[in-house]
Amino acid sequence: MSDRRGERLAALRALLAAEGLGAVVVGHAANVRYLTGFSGSSALVLVTEAAATLLTDSRYETQAAEEVGDLARVVIAPAGLLEALLGLLPESGARDPIGFEAHVLTVREASRLTDGARAGRFRPSGELVERLRVVKAPEEVAALRDAARVAGTALARAVADIRVGLSELDVAALLEAALRREGSVAHPFPTIVASGPRAALPHARTSDRRVGAGEWLLLDFGAEVGGYCADVTRTFVVGAAPDARQREVYGVVQGAQAAALAGMRAGMTGKAADALARDPIAAAGYGAAFGHSLGHGLGLEVHEAPRVSKASEEPLAAGAVVTVEPGVYLPGWGGVRIEDDVVLGDAAAALLTDIPRDLVVLG
Ligand code: ZN
Ligand code: ZN
Repeated sequence: MSDRRGERLAALRALLAAEGLGAVVVGHAANVRYLTGFSGSSALVLVTEAAATLLTDSRYETQAAEEVGDLARVVIAPAGLLEALLGLLPESGARDPIGFEAHVLTVREASRLTDGARAGRFRPSGELVERLRVVKAPEEVAALRDAARVAGTALARAVADIRVGLSELDVAALLEAALRREGSVAHPFPTIVASGPRAALPHARTSDRRVGAGEWLLLDFGAEVGGYCADVTRTFVVGAAPDARQREVYGVVQGAQAAALAGMRAGMTGKAADALARDPIAAAGYGAAFGHSLGHGLGLEVHEAPRVSKASEEPLAAGAVVTVEPGVYLPGWGGVRIEDDVVLGDAAAALLTDIPRDLVVLG
């Protein structure tokens, strides 16, 4: 994999210049990883016009040296990252004003930067690194495709063992074990297993409820490979053929997703992309049952820019990776969501996931 860190720092410095900032302090873990390669949970990176310094704690001394290499100076801060940052500022060459990630720091941390003697030196930078992360380089797309492949293979293994009478937690255990065996280094978010009427809860908490014959079973889960995430949902029926209403609702969601996958492309607004799926769901009479957005960006984080939402007037960038996940949720009855991951091109969206989308009966 080619090393993009130098060009990412250069791109960030160009943004700093455009924003009138002399330096920036980056603390969001995914941003730190993107810029420096450091994958630990606790670090600050000071990027000035000429240099980069990564501050972390002693737990990460060896890991930081290995992952960061000679890209940045690594400083181990025994008495707190912010304290150490303020201590090394005078010799850092950082020109004021210095940006900070107001969307990441706590109020207490932010006030340490902006109160008293330092008033005017620091100001919120906005989501600069997040902006850089939207368009994926080819090797990032390859990692996302690997994560999607792991998710698909693990799902295929897990569903072979799903039967009526298993609890949602049993199903999550099967799926999570398969994800690990296939090479997922983490579960990027808590696995959602929702059975029967609980499938109507878009963000259900996996419970000890047992799945009955003819009931819905919705699985929403992730995989992580090389730091990059997959996010997949499939909805099945277990132990008996689906009834007419199940087939109808599934067909509406599947048709809406197919329309979005076929019609989505770079240059569209998030709103226009969302409408590709929302309009057919509304035309089928289920508009009120699709409450969430069509999708979200996917990368080092499972939810990142851009938004694929009726509230977003921003055009989608070529090279962005997003989920396409329409759903219909009917309280007391159940719900269906189908979620795949795509990379956006000017002419079309290309699927990263390769998982059958027709309604399948398990068990
Ligand atoms: Zn999901
Ligand atoms: Zn999602």
